[in-house]
Amino acid sequence: MRNIISSISTLKNFMGNADRNTCNEYLYNALLDAIESMEMDVAVKPIENSCEEKTHYKCKCGYIFLTKYSDGHQMGNKPNYCERCGQAIDWSRDV
Ligand SMILES: [Zn+2]
Repeated sequence: MRNIISSISTLKNFMGNADRNTCNEYLYNALLDAIESMEMDVAVKPIENSCEEKTHYKCKCGYIFLTKYSDGHQMGNKPNYCERCGQAIDWSRDV
């Protein structure tokens, strides 16, 4: 795959510069879909929510992948993609 982050940025710049009224509406909406789909493939780190007894690692959509409890046990797993919304997840940092 080519540099997807750079492609997303190129598309967003193009759409920002294009005058919506003179742009083909179907093309404009197709590009919006394309950007959204491409962004799902750029892995993002899970969102961390901690309280005293546990830490949740979750997706931007709210889906909880993994819960670690302070007593050491944990529930869930570290999927490469969110099973609810399809967002690619980056677990490269130690979790
Ligand atoms: Zn999700």
